[in-house]
Amino acid sequence: MKFFKKSEDQQHEYIIEELRQKISAAHMPPPVAKISEQELELLTRISPSSAEYTIGITYIDYLVSLPWNKKTEDNLDIVRAERILNENHYGLDKIKERIMEHLAIKVLMMNKKARVLVIDDEEIARKNLAHILVKENYDVMTAADGAEALRVLESSEFDAVLTDLRMGKIDGMDLLERVKIKYPDTKVIMVTGYATVPSAIEAMKKGAFHYIAKPFKLDEVRDTVKRAVEQKSQRPITKGSVLCFAGPPGTGKTSLGKSIAQALGRKFTRIALGGLKDEADIRGHRRTYVGAKPGRVIEEIRRVESANPVVMLDELDKVGRDFKGDPASALLEVLDPEQNRSFVDHYLDVPFDLSSVMFILTANVLDTIPAPLRDRMEVIEFAGYTQEEKAHIALRFLCPKQIREKGLSSNQVDFTEGAVKKIIQEYTHEAGIRNLERRIATVCRKLARKTLQNTGSPESVTIASDSVEHYLGRKKFHFEVIEEQDRIGVATGLVRTETGGDIIFVEAAKMKGDKELIITGSLGDVMRESAQTALSYIRSNAGTFGIPDNFFEHRDIHIHVPSGAIQKDGPSAGITILIALASLLTGRPALRDVAMTGEITLTGRILPVSGIQEKILAAKRAKVKTVFVPARNRADVEELTDDMKKDIDIRLADTIPDVVKAVLV
Ligand code: ADP
Repeated sequence: MKFFKKSEDQQHEYIIEELRQKISAAHMPPPVAKISEQELELLTRISPSSAEYTIGITYIDYLVSLPWNKKTEDNLDIVRAERILNENHYGLDKIKERIMEHLAIKVLMMNKKARVLVIDDEEIARKNLAHILVKENYDVMTAADGAEALRVLESSEFDAVLTDLRMGKIDGMDLLERVKIKYPDTKVIMVTGYATVPSAIEAMKKGAFHYIAKPFKLDEVRDTVKRAVEQKSQRPITKGSVLCFAGPPGTGKTSLGKSIAQALGRKFTRIALGGLKDEADIRGHRRTYVGAKPGRVIEEIRRVESANPVVMLDELDKVGRDFKGDPASALLEVLDPEQNRSFVDHYLDVPFDLSSVMFILTANVLDTIPAPLRDRMEVIEFAGYTQEEKAHIALRFLCPKQIREKGLSSNQVDFTEGAVKKIIQEYTHEAGIRNLERRIATVCRKLARKTLQNTGSPESVTIASDSVEHYLGRKKFHFEVIEEQDRIGVATGLVRTETGGDIIFVEAAKMKGDKELIITGSLGDVMRESAQTALSYIRSNAGTFGIPDNFFEHRDIHIHVPSGAIQKDGPSAGITILIALASLLTGRPALRDVAMTGEITLTGRILPVSGIQEKILAAKRAKVKTVFVPARNRADVEELTDDMKKDIDIRLADTIPDVVKAVLV
């Protein structure tokens, strides 16, 4: 029994000693190291069989395993970065340009050295301090006394001043007072002998940032100057400091994020925010029970073993639906440069510096993102690809990738352009290329199996357009626009959805009744108002439409708007509802291959709407021939690439009659 006891004690001691060594090797910031040591000290006094002991050991073990000071070195070669973005992605020119600008600013900021002025009347001390700081990559100048320091300060701006207390005419205290008056943002650090500690404390009261007692430890100097410089350079929250990629799925957001990481030589990781249910998933659980965990951000940083990875926070727009707590404020603590230098995860209970992490957010739509978060983001919109772009990407990237991943080789399989275009048009219906990649994967999977089954398998297979059906079955999508006839009371509209843009068919019918306007479909109040406005416009202009004034007497009118559009996009169906109604009441069919978008007013004006790019791409996918866009969206139309404008007639309309004339047969 005794023997066991002893060995348990030894084991206990061994564990504690091992942790002690890990703490000193973990390069923690001094305050964190101190707390870890204190926690460890507590553990030596409690029984190893208690729950607290296990919780404590796990906690310290976690702390020491974090990459406190471990960062990958950034590759700041901007030309190389551009090359990597281009090599991995076809098209997306404007988006790449914005990313390059963002990176260039980051590079410039990172390259900008902080400036420190060292003042000491003893030459050796002065030179020593300067030497230490130059090695830390600061831009250092020196002065031998207060008067010289003031002259140097006149000539340029410094982030921090490190001054001896006892000097000639103008001593450290005088200097401090003058600096604080003239350059209030500059941090002043006093260096002082033991004898003068009380006066150093007085200096703190007068606004010094900190004091360092001589003889000092090098780490203390490094740490104090670092903190001073960081505080000085904390700017007011910079709008747009975090990139947000917004757009439908499969448009290359994740893939560009990975390329940014590759270009900078940083680790990359993703956190799907849509799957988080609780604030503790972001901020961590307090460590009061066995099994408490840190939040995902800290977990990921530990996993990638680097304090400066690129972290992609996915599906920002999906957070909040049945989320416990306030996700926006938790995310702000993570993202906001004012706060994230000392992010306190509830489990860690000590600050962890997230300021070198490069966060990239992604979202399908921006409407549901809380305003305080949106203010911090620089939004880059991904609208989707044209058919031609999709075909290029498929042939150059997706097919070779899938062929490789399914164990085939590129000289065994050849996809023709015709086949790829057929897959795009008849087997997918999307703004991005996620399903396209899946379909190509299906073909490759079937080929791989065939290759194994056929002992006498052919040397190479060509996938041409007529063999697509063999691999993927009957076509999945029909072109409702060109394959069906123009009808009375049905108009083709364009809406924005979470997955990009889409076309909808708004239907109107009339029946005997009592002047009721019935609206079905799921767009709620916004859509109801648009329908009401459309009806009132027609009633007040009945003459010009050639319909009797009393057409509404003894009638009900039913408008059906298929669901799908995002809430904020509701009013943009206004013009489509109007055309469906006008078609119904005049008995003139509406051209099915003319699609439209625009909010309407009672006086017949057409107001601008959002998502023009997404809508044009959707119209092209559906083989719509002509699109009416509000005249006040002219700038958005001008921004479209030539590829997007090809094969489609985009017309600007200012008033309702412009559209009525062109669409009603
Ligand atoms: P998202 O994150 O927007 O949903 P992904 O980045 O996952 O989309 O893209 C889906 C797939 O399409 C990935 O395999 C990606 O590499 C590929 N892809 C997307 N856009 C491009 C592009 N412009 N060039 C090459 N490949 C692309």
